[in-house]
Amino acid sequence: MNIDTLKASVRNVPDFPIPGIQFKDVTTLFKEPNNLRQLAQLLKERYADKGITKVVGIESRGFIMGPILALELGAGFVPIRKPGKLPAETIEESYEKEYGRDTIQMHRDALSPDDVVLLHDDLLATGGTMLAAYRLVRQAGVKQVYINFLIELADLRGRGVFPPEVEVDTLMSFDK
Ligand code: AMP
Repeated sequence: MNIDTLKASVRNVPDFPIPGIQFKDVTTLFKEPNNLRQLAQLLKERYADKGITKVVGIESRGFIMGPILALELGAGFVPIRKPGKLPAETIEESYEKEYGRDTIQMHRDALSPDDVVLLHDDLLATGGTMLAAYRLVRQAGVKQVYINFLIELADLRGRGVFPPEVEVDTLMSFDK
């Protein structure tokens, strides 16, 4: 199976959640057992030699492949969540969205200085969400951070928001 087969499994839903947005639906990608196995294998190959100790997934679609990848890499899994969801003491970052501001949180004790983190989400659009997540993980003071997405919407040039020293990797790239 190659990347084009995986790309063909991503469903395009026009005008969701609002008119003008082409929504990339990953449920059609994940529901096929062969796709799941292939995604896990491809991601494992990319990060096996990086010494990853924690995979950090962003709510909510980063919670699907994130733990699978953590298991494959022999790493732990840490969730980044929307405000008010995590029960213990948190640290947070806020960021501008198209309409208003958003905040994300992580447990204060989730990461330690010797952690090598793989930050994971399903899709890179403008990059705003992941940049806030990157800052949050940096706030926690870890050794190194890698960033991974399954899908990149290349036309939106979200990659450009990250500092040049961070390795940003995507499995599938789509143009509009
Ligand atoms: P952004 O912060 O603009 O990079 O947006 C990324 C977040 O929004 C990710 O968590 C995605 O799941 C979601 N998202 C943004 N645009 C789309 C899209 N066209 N299709 C599916 N999900 C999207």
